[in-house]
Amino acid sequence: MERLQKVIAHAGVASRRKAEELIQAGKVKVNGTVIKELGVKVGPSDKIEVEGIKIERENRVYFLLYKPTGIISAVNDDKKRKVVTDFFPHVQERIYPVGRLDYDTSGLLLLTNDGEFAHLLTHPKYEIHKTYVARVKGLVSRESLRKLERGIKLEDGMTAPANAKVLSADKKKDKTIIEITIHEGRNRQVRRMFDAIGHPVQKLKRERYAFLNLAGLNAGDARELTPHEVKQLR
Ligand code: URA
Repeated sequence: MERLQKVIAHAGVASRRKAEELIQAGKVKVNGTVIKELGVKVGPSDKIEVEGIKIERENRVYFLLYKPTGIISAVNDDKKRKVVTDFFPHVQERIYPVGRLDYDTSGLLLLTNDGEFAHLLTHPKYEIHKTYVARVKGLVSRESLRKLERGIKLEDGMTAPANAKVLSADKKKDKTIIEITIHEGRNRQVRRMFDAIGHPVQKLKRERYAFLNLAGLNAGDARELTPHEVKQLR
C-alpha cells in the first residue's frame, strides 16, 4: 500500500505537492469516491481518477540515453523531427526526458516515467552537477575562465560559480576545448555563459550527470539505470 499522493506523483501526473493540492481540492477519486484527506493509502487494484481521468499505474522505469545532436528533448514534435523517446521503440511505459538538452547538444540524458524522480532531479535545490565539454570559438584567457568560475551575469540573473578548465587550445583553428561543470539547469545556460564572455559555443556535449557518465555507449545508445543508481540519485 502506498500513499495516494505518492501514487499520483509516480504516475507522472503531478509533483507530490501538486498531487496533495488536487486531493484537497476534491479532484481525486478512489474507486469512485472523492477522497479529500491526505495520507489515505491505496493498493495496486484501487482505481484512481484525477480530474476524471483514470491514472495508469505503470512500472517505474529509468533510462540513460547518449543523445545524438539533431534530436529534440521531448516526447513529440510539431515539426515531426526526431525526439528522444524515438530511441525507445520497445518501451511500453510513457517515458519522458528529465530536463532537456538542446537540439544541437549531444550527451547524457535521463528518461523516466517517474514524475517524482524527475521533479526531484530538476529542482534547483538538489544542485545536480552536470559536466559539459564545449568547443568554443577563440582562445579563452585565464581571466575569462575565472569569470565563468565566479559567475556570469545573464539576463535571468547571475549564474552560480562553475568549474571550468581548458582541455586543449588550437591557435591555428582559433578554438578552445573546455570542460565546464555547472549545477543549475537554466535554458541554454552553457551556451549563454560562453556567449557572455565572447566565445560562442560551436559544439556541446554533456559528459556527466551527477555520478553517471557515458562509458561504453555510442551516440544513440541507451541503457537502463541499475536500481542502485536510481537509489543513489534520489
Ligand atoms: N547548456 C546549454 O547551453 N545547452 C544544453 O543543451 C545544456 C546546457
